[in-house]
Amino acid sequence: MYSSTITQYEERAPEPRVEPDQPMEIKDVPRRQLQPFIYRNIIVLAILHVVAFYTLFFHSLEAKLYTWLLSPFWGYTGGLGITAGAHRLWAHRSYSAKLPLRIFLAFIYCMAGQTHLSKWIRDHRTHHRYTETPADPHDANRGFFFSHIGWLMMKRHPAVKQYGSKIDMSDIKADPVIQFFDKYYIPIMILLTFVIPTLIPVYCWNETWRLSIYAVIIRYVWLLNVTFFVNSFAHMWGNRPYNSSLRPTENPTVSFFTLGEGWHNYHHSFPWDYKAAELGNFSLNGSAAFINLMAKTGLAYDLKSPSKELVEKTALKKGDGTQSLWGTKFEHKKY
Ligand SMILES: [Zn+2]
Ligand SMILES: [Zn+2]
Repeated sequence: MYSSTITQYEERAPEPRVEPDQPMEIKDVPRRQLQPFIYRNIIVLAILHVVAFYTLFFHSLEAKLYTWLLSPFWGYTGGLGITAGAHRLWAHRSYSAKLPLRIFLAFIYCMAGQTHLSKWIRDHRTHHRYTETPADPHDANRGFFFSHIGWLMMKRHPAVKQYGSKIDMSDIKADPVIQFFDKYYIPIMILLTFVIPTLIPVYCWNETWRLSIYAVIIRYVWLLNVTFFVNSFAHMWGNRPYNSSLRPTENPTVSFFTLGEGWHNYHHSFPWDYKAAELGNFSLNGSAAFINLMAKTGLAYDLKSPSKELVEKTALKKGDGTQSLWGTKFEHKKY
């Protein structure tokens, strides 16, 4: 039965994927250290954004309807590879997946064109282990621009390298699916992110090459920014019902665009929950709906989730007293 695959934890489930002891106190590391610019990234990102915005505003209406439909389909499918695959399955081990599902998730992850799976996972584990310290790859204390995209425009803070290298990645190194997709990432990614979605409109419904390439650039830039929303918007704006001492927030807008990754105060409080949210509101959590569907087929199993009591107790003890969805004041149930 599907429901029997969900493990309800009364206490916080252990997160065994990070090294517990560190050689130096992270709080003593200066937040700003020399981080030379990576000019190649700055130029490429700038050109992509200029082209995407220019073509979106001046040429998108020239595109055929199917070209319009293909872009969000491709973007959300790649996005699902990030959220249900790289994030919830691999980075947090919040559920387990059988081989066909792991292959499928790694495959669609490559449609997003971000980076090697193991790099994404290490960065994300580092982000959770050292949230908003100098070792956080996209430390939100350094402002909106840095946490959104600026962190990709400069060499990493030495603390990110030092502490990130200590994150336990043994499970990832032992996963043959990740090893395969990492090894052949560049050709697979180029094909799935850029080549095939350019060819489909041209050969299937006679779109022009020019508009087909524009659509790919717009979708690529869109998905990059949507992913970055989680690191910037969802670490700045919104309420904190589960732990007011954590900076990450509940942000329904980000959840809408990211298939449910904007319930970020909850996610940083219970990172091992496969839903990455308390609410079962699947219109704003497509990734959880997908994992539930996979659990029904038996391809996903051991879905982890805290008990309702633990969530309520945590919110009562540490939260800011707001309701998780829209930030309105909330009457906590007394025990
Ligand atoms: Zn975060
Ligand atoms: Zn996470």
